[in-house]
Amino acid sequence: MGKITGFLEIDRNERKYAPVAERLKHYREFVIPLSEKDTRDQAARCMNCGIPYCHGTGSVAPGTPGCPVNNQIPDFNDLVYQGNWEEASRNLHSTNNFPEFTGRICPAPCEASCTLNIDDNPVTIKTIECAIVDRAWDNGWLKPEVAPAKTGKKVAIVGSGPAGLAAAQQLARAGHDVHVYEKFAKAGGLLRYGIPDFKMEKHIIDRRVAQMEAEGVTFHYGVHIGGTLQGAIDPRELLNQYDAVALTGGAEAGRDLPIPGRDLDGIHFAMDFLPQQNRRVSSEPLGDVKDILAGGKHVVVIGGGDTGSDCIGTSLRQGAKSVTQLEIMPSPPEHENKGVTWPNWPLKMRTSSSQAEGAIREYAVLTQKFSGVDGKVQKLHCVKVDDKFKPIAGTEFELEAQLVLLAMGFVHPVHEGMLKTLGVDLDQRGNVRANMADYKTSLPNVFSAGDMRRGQSLVVWAIREGRLCARAIDQYLMGTTTLPR
Ligand SMILES: Cc1cc2nc3c(=O)[nH]c(=O)nc-3n(C[C@H](O)[C@H](O)[C@H](O)COP(=O)(O)OP(=O)(O)OC[C@H]3O[C@@H](n4cnc5c(N)ncnc54)[C@H](O)[C@@H]3O)c2cc1C
Ligand code: SF4
Repeated sequence: MGKITGFLEIDRNERKYAPVAERLKHYREFVIPLSEKDTRDQAARCMNCGIPYCHGTGSVAPGTPGCPVNNQIPDFNDLVYQGNWEEASRNLHSTNNFPEFTGRICPAPCEASCTLNIDDNPVTIKTIECAIVDRAWDNGWLKPEVAPAKTGKKVAIVGSGPAGLAAAQQLARAGHDVHVYEKFAKAGGLLRYGIPDFKMEKHIIDRRVAQMEAEGVTFHYGVHIGGTLQGAIDPRELLNQYDAVALTGGAEAGRDLPIPGRDLDGIHFAMDFLPQQNRRVSSEPLGDVKDILAGGKHVVVIGGGDTGSDCIGTSLRQGAKSVTQLEIMPSPPEHENKGVTWPNWPLKMRTSSSQAEGAIREYAVLTQKFSGVDGKVQKLHCVKVDDKFKPIAGTEFELEAQLVLLAMGFVHPVHEGMLKTLGVDLDQRGNVRANMADYKTSLPNVFSAGDMRRGQSLVVWAIREGRLCARAIDQYLMGTTTLPR
């Protein structure tokens, strides 16, 4: 374990952020890494608990405590404390293909379930994870791992988000000929086009893609499977050409707000707004769409999750006059009751870095209609709601807005096109039906993982599912598998 008395002697010390006024001037990452000494001190706090909930129970059921990819946290904490960073990196990569993604943007359920969190003082696991992998890249320890022998089997993966990337990397390392099809110009899915650069810069994806290309993965960009535009491919062709197909296309159907005035100009889905800014940052053409910009406007973001926060940070960087975030749920408690919630993920007040940059947050608010002038949105007409989401008479109010961003989540994958053409079975929620044992869909050699299978979720779950789906495909193709879980 780390230092036996470390947790008694050393306080939690988390990475700091650059000041708000400074970071709002650009789209780069603004988290300031700890020094090597401070990171090792933090690792020294780990108690190597007998039952370390932080690294997860191994169960794949949603809502189980700890790390969904089962990072072996006490082990890498000890290696960091000892200064054996290279071995820590080997250990970390044995469970997680892309710790540089999770080390930046994971909500860290591991920290919620750390024993030291019983008094609000968990080990800085995410910070340590990020430090290990960043150091590994800086020192050139992360080389392509080319399979020693090829199997002669071909696998197609549709979608290059974290689920597709993890599946592709695992399958290539098992010796299969892997082809990733992506409708956009670059790989990464929501990592590239949803999550803003200030949370994760995109060169971080590029170097992984280069590693995967060197491992034999072929990426086909601008190819919409089941789409109608030029270059699209009928998904049934993939079934003829490949021994197995993995559907990892995410959950892209956004939840709408069909209330009066919804058709006014200036009301957009978050995922029409955020990708534009990411493309601007990387000088990728926006295509045939109108610019959606927040500069000089009063902005209202409807929805309180990660996507809403990303809209806030992006709007403020674009120079919005004000940003208000509306959430229909009541304001959560400042502190959870640890006796009831630990080691599970608790409901409590959290303030994201973007919210801390200057958003006004309103809870228990329902938007009843939009109104505007000359076809352009000018106002939201809102009301406060009770704990059953029923409007409370007399609490009506109006908010000025020239830009409204709908960030209320995603209902399920897009059905039109690929899924309908394939005729794959869907579950009750409209996601692709496949279980978490073999990831098989209703079609014989078609598998599915990530948000397309489980519905909107987290990057760490997408990585987990991509890895397990690869294992299931390897087992299906070869009759046996040595790929880790
Ligand atoms: C704005 C935003 C912010 C988020 N922030 C966080 C965060 O901070 N932390 C976190 O853990 N999670 C976050 N999430 C959730 C996380 O990004 C997703 O859970 C995760 O990316 C899902 O991975 P995936 O590989 O299943 O799908 P996706 O990342 O959605 O990737 C799917 C890919 O498939 C492609 N595709 C789809 N259909 C086709 C087709 N027919 N042909 C070809 N290509 C196709 C898409 O273009 C896309 O590139 C956020 C989500 C959003 C929208
Ligand atoms: S992937 Fe997420 S849950 Fe797992 S160790 Fe890293 S921060 Fe924690």
